[in-house]
Amino acid sequence: MAFLIDIEGIDGSGKGTQAELLRQTLTERGYRVELISFPRYGKTTFARGIADFLNGRFGTLEAVDPFLVSLLYAGDRFESRDWLRDLMEQNQIVILDRYIPSNMAHQGSKRDGEERRELLGWIDQIEYGAYDLPRPNLVLWLDLPVDLAHARIAAKKPRDYTAETTDLQESNLEHLRRTREVYESLAGTEPGWNRIETVSEGRARTQDEIRREIESIVIASLG
Ligand code: ADP
Repeated sequence: MAFLIDIEGIDGSGKGTQAELLRQTLTERGYRVELISFPRYGKTTFARGIADFLNGRFGTLEAVDPFLVSLLYAGDRFESRDWLRDLMEQNQIVILDRYIPSNMAHQGSKRDGEERRELLGWIDQIEYGAYDLPRPNLVLWLDLPVDLAHARIAAKKPRDYTAETTDLQESNLEHLRRTREVYESLAGTEPGWNRIETVSEGRARTQDEIRREIESIVIASLG
């Protein structure tokens, strides 16, 4: 049976690291696994628009309406839908390093209250509705305290969509704080969400500690 595992969290929370570790763990256990990282820079037309947005071509973060920005991220997944469906037809496990909840968290963070609810509903209707993208079976939210995010982001490898060390969204601490807040509310209301602590008792958890927790959740979910 196909199984979609989405890894979420603010920038620097360890999604890329854990997605790769999970891919290795599941492969070693004999599962057929594919890992897809969104946005698919260099692969889709919409990802070019996302890179332009993140590099500030369309104006500052605040200047570009999040209802419109969300369409770029949704388009990137729409262009990837056939591939995703093929993998599902082959009964593969698909690990998603970011997926639709990232759109909700990052764009939703730019609005409050009723407007935020409306925006989350808009993204839900476009991506799961109009674009008919599959819902993930499991969402793993890596919860990184915002005050640790900058050091982690600075340690990241250079990205292929920007010459800057951090992009517009990452460099804005308030944006990270509000994005984390949306993740927290999604984790409290959406089915299939698991919060994974990246800091425990004042100490950052190692990559391997987090990997093992993820492994046990995933194996239990696969049944
Ligand atoms: P994301 O994909 O969420 O932006 P990354 O996986 O790229 O995050 O991790 C950001 C940085 O933090 C990388 O340099 C990575 O090696 C490092 N990192 C990831 N997990 C941990 C951890 N548990 N402890 C310390 N550093 C970590």
